[in-house]
Amino acid sequence: MNLKIGIAGAGFSGAVIANELAKAGHQITVFEPRKHIAGNCYSSRDDESNIMQHHFGPHIFHTDKAHIWEYVTRLGQMMPFTNRVKAMSQGQVYSLPINLHTINQFFNAQMSPSEAKEFIACKADSSIKQPQNFEEQAHKLIGEQLYQAFFKDYTIKQWGRSPDTLPASILKRLPVRFNYDDNYFNHPFQGMPIEGYTPLIQKLLDHPNITLRLNSTFDATMKNQYAHVFFSGPLDAYFDYKLGKLPYRTLDFHKEVHEGDYQGNAVVNYCDNSQAYTRISEHKHFTPWESHSSTVIFKEYSREATAEDTPYYPVRLSDDNTLLDQYVELAKQQKNITFVGRLGTYRYLDMDTSIDEALTASKLFLEALSTQKTM
Ligand code: UDP
Repeated sequence: MNLKIGIAGAGFSGAVIANELAKAGHQITVFEPRKHIAGNCYSSRDDESNIMQHHFGPHIFHTDKAHIWEYVTRLGQMMPFTNRVKAMSQGQVYSLPINLHTINQFFNAQMSPSEAKEFIACKADSSIKQPQNFEEQAHKLIGEQLYQAFFKDYTIKQWGRSPDTLPASILKRLPVRFNYDDNYFNHPFQGMPIEGYTPLIQKLLDHPNITLRLNSTFDATMKNQYAHVFFSGPLDAYFDYKLGKLPYRTLDFHKEVHEGDYQGNAVVNYCDNSQAYTRISEHKHFTPWESHSSTVIFKEYSREATAEDTPYYPVRLSDDNTLLDQYVELAKQQKNITFVGRLGTYRYLDMDTSIDEALTASKLFLEALSTQKTM
């Protein structure tokens, strides 16, 4: 039985599901409101410098799941890349994530790993057992001084909210290390697609059973034309914002072109309020195997998204997510539709998790179909 399936969104979530179901023989139509595929992973070369640009902010592929790493490496060649972030704070340059170098430099010391561990344990607030928000998580993990220097102002710039209203999970994304390992991610697999992310998504969508409609928004009135819909657009947009708008942060990028090397690293964070932007990414450093005489940088500014803006970060709060709960309840009542991905499930998802969940959603759907068939 070949079904007509509608998919909203041509980012990783939508493209993975489209590919899996197309391979199983179903007829897929993918609706993408933008004029390009790949969602916020969209990358393309700058016309003038030929530098690969991540148009919606830096995307570095990393995962701890071997099957997801195998999956992406089948889509395209992944080049070795390790994200090593530098952080500007209080007039100094530090290494991020917080590691032994950061700690020794910040406290002007020469501590060994075990000394630093003990030292930070004394700085940390051990009375906090179950951190209820970002600020408590920071106090428990690293104490007030490192929190003030690296996280407080950056987080207010990034989220537009006080860190004591944001979930602890946001800070848990970042490791704290008592050695000199300055890899930003803890995952064993990390890399950059040799020609950017767009060809990976293109490969997924290149299937005779998939019709791609760019500049086309899927809306709820179209649902009955399909046996099933996978929706990776914004959850509140699907319901025409009828309960209100869920908050998102959007980003503005100010592009500059320079000669030579601007900052000597792919990502430099501005952790205090000396600059209104959160970070500068210099994209030629994401492709260290290439050589370019000029350079393109993006200063990244975060602000609250309107319904017209590109949504980037869903804003979950540490204590009250009533509106989200109401939308999730509405979503559960719908038949023949699965909400997927960062926007469809309103979660702060990395690419590897989006792919993994999309593979699982496809598998569950196909299994449910085959059970129906045999009944
Ligand atoms: N963060 C911070 N200072 C930094 C880097 C990160 O305070 O220099 C906080 C901030 O709240 C951010 C979160 O940690 O939103 C997660 O950081 P990550 O680098 O994972 O953010 P992303 O690259 O997804 O924007």
